[in-house]
Amino acid sequence: MKISRRGFLKLSGVAGAAAGLTGWGFFPRYGAAVPAPAQEKLRIRHAQEVPTICPYCSVGCGAICYVEEGEVTAVGGDPDHPINEGSLCSKGSSLLNLRSIYDASTKERKLNPQRLTKVLYRAPYSGRWEVKSWDWALAEIARRVKQTRDATFVSKDENGVTVNRTTAMAHLGSAALDNEENYVLVKLQRSLGLINIDHHARL
Ligand code: SF4
Repeated sequence: MKISRRGFLKLSGVAGAAAGLTGWGFFPRYGAAVPAPAQEKLRIRHAQEVPTICPYCSVGCGAICYVEEGEVTAVGGDPDHPINEGSLCSKGSSLLNLRSIYDASTKERKLNPQRLTKVLYRAPYSGRWEVKSWDWALAEIARRVKQTRDATFVSKDENGVTVNRTTAMAHLGSAALDNEENYVLVKLQRSLGLINIDHHARL
């Protein structure tokens, strides 16, 4: 019988729980041991699987967010991803904490209060952050990019060679971006004349 890697992992998990070899199993989403009977209920059985990329480092491991009623309830490694084949390191295993954290006082998960949900702006030479709207931030970014680009764009270098570039701006991408997003971003930056473009996964 031919079986996919994902199918094998699912089958192994169910078989392990049913056998109850140790009486306790390891539940990878929360990194906590739970009784085998609870494990058999499979908390993710009704969840929608949404594939994503771990944002922490340049390895770019594939992860799956398990979503129930619009809420991410668990995150695990993507067994079909060619880089990590279902595994996640300790940082990747904590991805769920970006969204929600365990509250020891209530023994429930709650939204991570440290998650940024608003635009914060610190003016040059200022020591404090101001809350701004997205409309303000996007207009301000566009204005400054155009102003800087127009003031520093060079068509030809000192030898008369056409270069069409600005060295006054740089762009740093993120491992949270996928190939397609990076492709569009690089097109945008090149069209502006940027030559200092990088991404910590070098995509
Ligand atoms: S799971 Fe670990 S190794 Fe993989 S991308 Fe995330 S931080 Fe990097």
